Amino acid sequence: MINGNLSSDTITFLGTAGARFMVTRQLAASGGLWLNLSGTEILVDPGPGSLVQSTKRKLKADKLSAIIISHRHLDHSADVNIMIEAMTNGGFRKRGWLFAPADALETEPVIFSYLKNYIEGIKVLKEGESYSIDNITFNTPVRHRHPVETYGMVFRTNGHTFAYIADTRYFDSLCQSYTSELIIMNTVLMEPKPPVDHLSVLEAEHIIKEIKPKVAILSHFGMGVWQARPWKIAQKLSQQTGVRVIAARDGMKFDLSQLDDS
Ligand SMILES: [Zn+2]
Repeated sequence: MINGNLSSDTITFLGTAGARFMVTRQLAASGGLWLNLSGTEILVDPGPGSLVQSTKRKLKADKLSAIIISHRHLDHSADVNIMIEAMTNGGFRKRGWLFAPADALETEPVIFSYLKNYIEGIKVLKEGESYSIDNITFNTPVRHRHPVETYGMVFRTNGHTFAYIADTRYFDSLCQSYTSELIIMNTVLMEPKPPVDHLSVLEAEHIIKEIKPKVAILSHFGMGVWQARPWKIAQKLSQQTGVRVIAARDGMKFDLSQLDDS
């Protein structure tokens, strides 16, 4: 089919910055992931600048069916309120669902209470649950090891599966939880740096070797990774693992049909 929107699955990176200094200095953008899966549009982790990055790339928030927040940290949730306003045409058109862990919704919610009436509803992310958004399903296989309640996701479309491994420290069941054709990994550090609860390049290499996806995409870079040049790291990891590893760039649009060629 020629109509890309209805037949194709794409992931647009509205940012690749991870951790505080990369984000606060905007050395790279931090707007999250915009999924278009057979025409269903979903925004994941709208960090600071999500509104600016999405409008700049002509993505239309009023087409979104849902916003998913992996966890409450600012680099994943800062723009959620304005994106809800954009998704619902300023509240004039009730639309869309918000998915977030209980921890992001309870004592100190990441969304303002008046905006809750703008959307169709809120669904709480829990370990081991499955969810659906129109024709798309996703599950949150395991609670991550991170200072706040955090989940990654495995998405299933008509033709593909892919995993988003959000912020976490390494633990063994990560590999079996996120087995899929494509993995997107938030790779903040060069090497493990306890007690910092983030994945490093060394652990990314291990995960890629264990899961053996068709493609692995690194994103959410910390300062050390940025200074070492993410694309050089990706090239080296490709050689070491035999898997095609890509370093995401701001604005990069990955078409999942690439998985069919490999
Ligand atoms: Zn975090």
